Amino acid sequence: MAKRLEGKTVVVTGASSGIGKSTAQEFARSSPKNLKLILTARRIDTLKEVAAEIKQEVGDGVQVLPVKLDVSNPEEINNFVSSLPEEFKEIDVLVNNAGLVKGVAQAPEIATEDLKVMFDTNVTGLINMTQAILPIFKKRSEGGRGDIINIGSIAGREPYPGGSIYCATKAAVRSFTDALRKELIATRIRVIEIDPGQVETEFSVVRFYGDKSKADAVYKGVEPLTGDDIAEVVVFAASRRENVVIADTLIFPSHQA
Ligand code: NDP
Repeated sequence: MAKRLEGKTVVVTGASSGIGKSTAQEFARSSPKNLKLILTARRIDTLKEVAAEIKQEVGDGVQVLPVKLDVSNPEEINNFVSSLPEEFKEIDVLVNNAGLVKGVAQAPEIATEDLKVMFDTNVTGLINMTQAILPIFKKRSEGGRGDIINIGSIAGREPYPGGSIYCATKAAVRSFTDALRKELIATRIRVIEIDPGQVETEFSVVRFYGDKSKADAVYKGVEPLTGDDIAEVVVFAASRRENVVIADTLIFPSHQA
């Protein structure tokens, strides 16, 4: 499994915490001798700490490049691709993980700004990242090669009251991912969606405006997943034989309804 990742260049968006950080760590552990990791998020200082942790854990076989990137800003995405150092330009795997939720509110009360931030990040950001990286994949033989791994959510399949906009963003990710996979059918570019249920990250508390006791009350009785649980599946999907696409996966804790 690890052998198939050797020599690859992997981009993870939202790598400063939660699932993205775990995913970066899991890629590094899976191919500690020869891997290039590009970690992106808005908090560059936190990204640098993640990069240092990875180097400390696996050593110098993994090259790590932390890059400040707000995926909701198309200009930053264009600059990101054009200013990558030469040795990081040949990207093989894009993990579109960056995402957020802005509070819990009934549809009529949702602030226009919150709606915009959620769509700009979770949907437009993911699409713009994909559009920016696809030309790199398409230059390769047999119509193109590379992996696009999108982190959706159970919320994109089972919308819940108070989460209409977040759920709508994740449903949009799902439709985009499905259509893109079909568009690229004649290539070796794999388009993969992984939909987590509840995962213990910064996200779970943000959803309740930082009120941890409220978050705990809603999730009572459910032992959440960890970022590592999702990361293992991401790396598993990326390290299959080239002809195998783990197209669409839902992962949730045993007791989550
Ligand atoms: P975290 O809040 O821990 O991580 C979110 C990451 O996204 C951070 O690294 C954050 O970095 C980054 N991010 C947010 N906005 C932007 C932006 N505009 N540009 C670049 N990076 C951004 O939450 P999770 O790890 O839980 O979330 C990761 C993904 O998993 C999200 O897409 C989320 O919707 C999805 N998900 C999470 C679930 C859960 O229960 N936790 C369940 C289902 C899906 P920074 O702030 O430094 O920019």
